Amino acid sequence: MSCLFCEIVAGRIPARIAYQDDAMLAFHDINPQGPIHILVIPKRHITSVLDLTPADDELMGSLVRRATALSRAEGLADRGFRLVFNYGEDAGYSVYHIHLHLVGGRKLGWPPG
Ligand code: AMP
Ligand code: ZN
Repeated sequence: MSCLFCEIVAGRIPARIAYQDDAMLAFHDINPQGPIHILVIPKRHITSVLDLTPADDELMGSLVRRATALSRAEGLADRGFRLVFNYGEDAGYSVYHIHLHLVGGRKLGWPPG
């Protein structure tokens, strides 16, 4: 089964990469919801937050810390930003490869739409 973000990891679909290492990749969202919108994903396919196991705890911790490092690099740490995992129809989850959204650079409404 083909997965869009696995294709990006493999380099078969282009993306504007913000960071990568052996375990993860961060790239700019193609349809940004703010001046800064970066997706941070594990390179290994995990379908969603519902599929996480204790064996993924370290990976997911490093994903969150990478997102906060990127928030600093993008100048968001002083003003604020949002980290989001969507899941399912109600949240509009559209790419079934787990991804952490880093969104910022504008005033973000709460509750989210
Ligand atoms: P979600 O709604 O949480 O599943 O978010 C999926 C995100 O992936 C959306 O914000 C899309 O704009 C983004 N997206 C879809 N295709 C691409 C792509 N080829 N490159 C970068 N971002 C993408
Ligand atoms: Zn995948």
